[in-house]
Amino acid sequence: MDDAGDVKGETRRANEVFTRARAAYLGLAIGDALGATTEFMTPGEIKATYKVHRKIIGGGWLYLKPGQVTDDTEMSLALGNALLTAGGWDRKGIADNFLAWMRSKPIDIGATCRRGIRDYMVKGQLETPYNEWDAGNGAAMRMAPVALFTLGDEAALYCFSIEQAHLTHNHPLSDAASVAIGTMVQRAIFGCSRFELHEVTRNLVAEYGSFRFNNYRGNASAYVVDTLQTVFNFLFTTGSFEECLIGVVNQGGDADTTGAIAGMIAGAFYGLDEIPTRWLKKLNREVRAEIENQAVKLVELSPWGALHT
Ligand code: MN
Ligand code: MN
Repeated sequence: MDDAGDVKGETRRANEVFTRARAAYLGLAIGDALGATTEFMTPGEIKATYKVHRKIIGGGWLYLKPGQVTDDTEMSLALGNALLTAGGWDRKGIADNFLAWMRSKPIDIGATCRRGIRDYMVKGQLETPYNEWDAGNGAAMRMAPVALFTLGDEAALYCFSIEQAHLTHNHPLSDAASVAIGTMVQRAIFGCSRFELHEVTRNLVAEYGSFRFNNYRGNASAYVVDTLQTVFNFLFTTGSFEECLIGVVNQGGDADTTGAIAGMIAGAFYGLDEIPTRWLKKLNREVRAEIENQAVKLVELSPWGALHT
């Protein structure tokens, strides 16, 4: 190939990375908006009400507008905004944004997140101490901006994932889940195979056997092990973004959060063109614009971005 061809190929690959990064972040918000409708329902209740829930219609226990997102997306945007404002990693900036978000009276906030943010407000505490009850999914759900910001550096991903997680959650299972999700998003953004994506789950299961997800038993609770088993089960038993998300949100339980996590991984893996247009159109306009803006800027700030932009 001649030089011009090389440059063209390079540009095309770089554009592909940006597009998949946007798809990961948009996938998170779509999973949140879609799943919020069936949060805390059982699969039987969902079936009786919707047959199969597959439209972004809002409602749910939070009485949302169609396309409205919840804490999963809002905390991610607060985190991403702190990094863009600082132009680099800023744990205190993230804590300040979480606090401002909490003060804005969000529609929903997890108990563990609330406690962590309160401890920051009252004591300036940036790392919550180990707590055996901190294995919820509240830190894992906001991993998308961290994965984008550390793209191209898995050591930085590891370190910053845990720092952001410990603002509110300090538990080895939450830490391991957060890192695994971030790693899957990053590898998918670089166009990895299904086998390479699955390898991340095999390494996770080798370290913490409780994450094993063959013989999935259908528990989609906010316990991070249940959450990831649900996400992994549908990610690896379906063949499209749409099928994967419909699978997780019809499992009910913490459906907005399983939707958000499945959405970020499947979004990056299948790419922007595979996200159904009817879902993208329904997503709240301001949220969508903010996500698109953050996704590009976070990748530009990343170690990969420094070499390719
Ligand atoms: Mn939520
Ligand atoms: Mn939730």
